[in-house]
Amino acid sequence: MSDYITMPEQRVPVIAACDVLVVGGGAAGMSAAIAAARQGADVILVERYGYLGGLASGGLIVLLLTLDDGDGHQIIAGQCQELVERLASRGACFYPPESDWGNYDEALVEKYRRWGLVWGSGPHRVRYSVAYDPEEFKYVANTWVGEAGVRLMYHRWASDVVFDDGAGAGTAPHPPAPSPRRGEGESNGEQTPATENRRSISHVVFTSKAGREAIRASCVIDTTGDGDVFTMAGESFEKEQIHPWLWFRMAGVQDVDAAQAGRGGFFFKTVKDGQVLMPWGAAERIERRIDATNPDDLTFAEVECRRMVMDEVDRLRAQVPGFEDAYLTDVALTLGVTESRRLNGAHTLVRDDVGTVFEDTIATTGHWTKYGAVYHIPYRSLLPQRVGNLLVAGRCISVDHRVHHATKEIPPAFATGEAAGVAAVQALRSSVGVEAVDVGTLQASLREAGAWLPEGGASS
Ligand SMILES: Cc1cc2nc3c(=O)[nH]c(=O)nc-3n(C[C@H](O)[C@H](O)[C@H](O)COP(=O)(O)OP(=O)(O)OC[C@H]3O[C@@H](n4cnc5c(N)ncnc54)[C@H](O)[C@@H]3O)c2cc1C
Repeated sequence: MSDYITMPEQRVPVIAACDVLVVGGGAAGMSAAIAAARQGADVILVERYGYLGGLASGGLIVLLLTLDDGDGHQIIAGQCQELVERLASRGACFYPPESDWGNYDEALVEKYRRWGLVWGSGPHRVRYSVAYDPEEFKYVANTWVGEAGVRLMYHRWASDVVFDDGAGAGTAPHPPAPSPRRGEGESNGEQTPATENRRSISHVVFTSKAGREAIRASCVIDTTGDGDVFTMAGESFEKEQIHPWLWFRMAGVQDVDAAQAGRGGFFFKTVKDGQVLMPWGAAERIERRIDATNPDDLTFAEVECRRMVMDEVDRLRAQVPGFEDAYLTDVALTLGVTESRRLNGAHTLVRDDVGTVFEDTIATTGHWTKYGAVYHIPYRSLLPQRVGNLLVAGRCISVDHRVHHATKEIPPAFATGEAAGVAAVQALRSSVGVEAVDVGTLQASLREAGAWLPEGGASS
C-alpha cells in the first residue's frame, strides 16, 4: 500500500540524560552497559521487554557456544566468564572442567554432546561451552547490572534518533525497502561516505505505554540485534532473510539418557532433572525465509513456528519412549532470529580474515562448528561510518554472512559488548569521536578488566 499520513509535530519529554545509552538488553547490551558503568560512566540500559538476555534467555538459546578455540584454549573471558561464574555459584549451569577441554575421548565427547555442547563435524573434541537455565540467567542479569550501577529501563522501544544539529528522524529515515541484492543478503545501497564530518546523536526516542519519551546521551551503543539504532541513524547495512526457529523445553521425561540413546528426537539435557531443551523447535524448517525486521513476516513465523512446536510435542509424546508423560514447560518468548541487519562498518570482517590478528583487535572468538577456526574482531567492525558517537555490538556488527555464524554467538556478543562499553567511555573521557579512540589504551583497559586478547595489537 502506498498510502501515507502526516503526523503532527509533537513535543516529546526528555526523561533522562546519561553518558552512555545502551539500546537493547541482550547479551551484548547487558555486557556493554556493565562494562561502561564499571569504567565510571553514568549508564542507561533500555530494553523493549521485561528481562535481560534477549535470545540468550527469552529466546531459550541457553548454550554458550563457545568460550574456546576448539583446540582446548579459552579465548573468551571477561564478562562472559564472569557470567559463567555467577551462574555456577547458583548451580544454574553445566560445562566441562578445564581438564576436559580439547579431549578427543569419545565417551567424554558423547557426554557433552548430550548437553548440546558439541556441534559440527568431527573428529570431535570437548569444547569449553556452557549450558544454563534461562530464568537463572535473567535473575543474575538483573542483579549484575544493578550492582554495576546501570540505570535499567524496561518496556521502552527505541523508535527514533535525533541529531545534535536538531535534525530528527525526518532526516534519518528508515531506509526504504526493498533494496538491491548483494550476495545472499541485501544492502540498502548506500555508498561508503568519508569519515570526516560525522554527526552526533543527541537523543534516542522511545515509545512505550507512557507515549514517546527521549533520552539524551553523550554516546549511544546499538545492541538491538537488528541494528535498529544504526538504521534510524542512516548508517549503511546488509540484511539477510532467514528461517526462524522457536526453541522450547519439555519436562517429565522419564530417563533422559535412555530417551536420547533411542534417537527418536533431537534434544538436550538441561540443569533440571527430567527437563529437555528442543533446539530448532521442530524437526523441520519453516517453509520460507523471513525478513526479521518485517512485522508481517514475524507474524507469519510466530503462528507457523508455534504450530510446528505443538506438532513436535505431540509426535514426541506419541513416538519417543520416555516422553509418554512429558509436558511442554515453555516456548521461547522470541523467535530464534539468526540474522537480520548487519552494519556496513569501518571494516567488514570476512571469512579470509580467519586467524588474522588486527592491530585493533578488541575481541576474539572461535567457531562453534569448526575446530581451530578463530576470528579476531577489529574495533572497526563496531564502528559506523557516519555517526561519531555511536557504537555497535553483538550480532549486528560489521562482518560477512559466513563470519556472522561465529561472531553472532552469545560469548562473542558478550565480548564485543564489553569492548563497546569500554570504548564509549574512553571516547567521552578523551573528548573524541568513537572513531578516534586510542585502540592501544582500549586493549589495555579490556585486558585489565579480564578480557582475553591475542598477543600483539596496537601499542598506545
Ligand atoms: C536458532 C538460533 C540458535 C542459536 N544457537 C546458539 C547457541 O547454541 N549458542 C550461542 O552462543 N549462540 C546461539 N545463537 C546466537 C545467539 O543466541 C544470538 O546471536 C545472541 O544471543 C545475540 O545477542 P545480541 O545481544 O546481539 O542480540 P539479541 O539477543 O537479539 O538482543 C537484542 C536485544 O535488544 C532488544 N531490542 C531489539 N530492538 C529494540 C528496540 N528497538 N528498542 C529496545 N530494545 C530492543 C531485544 O528485545 C533484545 O533483548 C543462536 C541463535 C539462533 C537464532
